[in-house]
Amino acid sequence: MCLFSMKIFKDCIYIKDANLKDYCTFKIGGQAKHLYTTYTNTALLEVCNYCNVHNIKYKIIGNGSNLLFDDKGYNGAIIVNRSKKLRFVDNFVYADGGTNIGEIIQKSTQRNLSGFEYFAGIPSSVAGGIINSLGAFDKQISDLVEYVICYKKNNLKKRIILKKVDCHFEYRNSLFKHEDYVITRVKFKLTRDDKTKIFERMKSCLNKKISTQPVDNHSAGSVFKRSTLIPAKIIDELGLKGKNIGDAQISVKHAGFIINNANARSKDVQQLIDYINDCVYRQFKQKFDLEIEYIPY
Ligand SMILES: Cc1cc2nc3c(=O)[nH]c(=O)nc-3n(C[C@H](O)[C@H](O)[C@H](O)COP(=O)(O)OP(=O)(O)OC[C@H]3O[C@@H](n4cnc5c(N)ncnc54)[C@H](O)[C@@H]3O)c2cc1C
Repeated sequence: MCLFSMKIFKDCIYIKDANLKDYCTFKIGGQAKHLYTTYTNTALLEVCNYCNVHNIKYKIIGNGSNLLFDDKGYNGAIIVNRSKKLRFVDNFVYADGGTNIGEIIQKSTQRNLSGFEYFAGIPSSVAGGIINSLGAFDKQISDLVEYVICYKKNNLKKRIILKKVDCHFEYRNSLFKHEDYVITRVKFKLTRDDKTKIFERMKSCLNKKISTQPVDNHSAGSVFKRSTLIPAKIIDELGLKGKNIGDAQISVKHAGFIINNANARSKDVQQLIDYINDCVYRQFKQKFDLEIEYIPY
């Protein structure tokens, strides 16, 4: 029974006790007490403000492709950002935070604009990509950023425009990982090229991904960050490919991925991560840092 009714906003869908499995690529997690899907930046900011005012903890997500939710779920509001406005002006693209990278690739290629094709096959939203400093094949999303429009979670009235240099982009790291912001829109600069060439590069990147990564399985991408050690190489050399705990398994195709074979729990993934790190520590006296983000209850 619903004991607590939540305000419903324009351009927003509310679900009580939503299954988080349906909102992440890992297909793992319990229920979120409240789940809002917002379709405009206004709705996104309104729901954030509502949560602030009512002291409800909240987490904004994009495509949930870097997340591991807890088996217990989330004791607050998950806000799924589906604000996807996309506008091209000359060589520039203005994209709302919820825009899929795949849509930008498709539309920019049609317009003979290059830059995003290297990220083909990555199930990222714009804001998720910015926060995680998305990269592939030695290309970084930050290479394309002009500025990011955002708000501090504790001051949603003040629109902030951060130039690239102020976003502190580093390998899988940015300012937004350390301070609480709501990202609403990003301006990117692309370069002119022939659409056939862009398409060929896109296809080549996609094919490399398909042939080396378990794209048909449920996962959250690379589990660990690279350091002086390359996780996939080390895990493979330690003979851990295929090792499983419950339905969580180290991918046989790419040792840097943990896949969910059917009903893996968050606990299984965490135990497998600990097992890998124990093996790595015994050999190298260091552990891998996580690239995926665990969301506690
Ligand atoms: C098969 C597969 C392949 C992958 N390959 C790559 C790869 O090649 N390179 C790479 O870098 N990554 C890769 N990833 C990881 C993942 O796709 C990226 O980290 C991606 O950028 C996450 O985007 P998302 O929209 O899914 O964000 P989510 O996972 O939903 O969220 C990521 C973070 O962003 C925050 N967030 C999202 N939207 C907002 C917002 N509007 N305002 C404030 N905070 C927000 C969330 O709170 C969370 O902290 C891969 C993942 C998979 C499953």
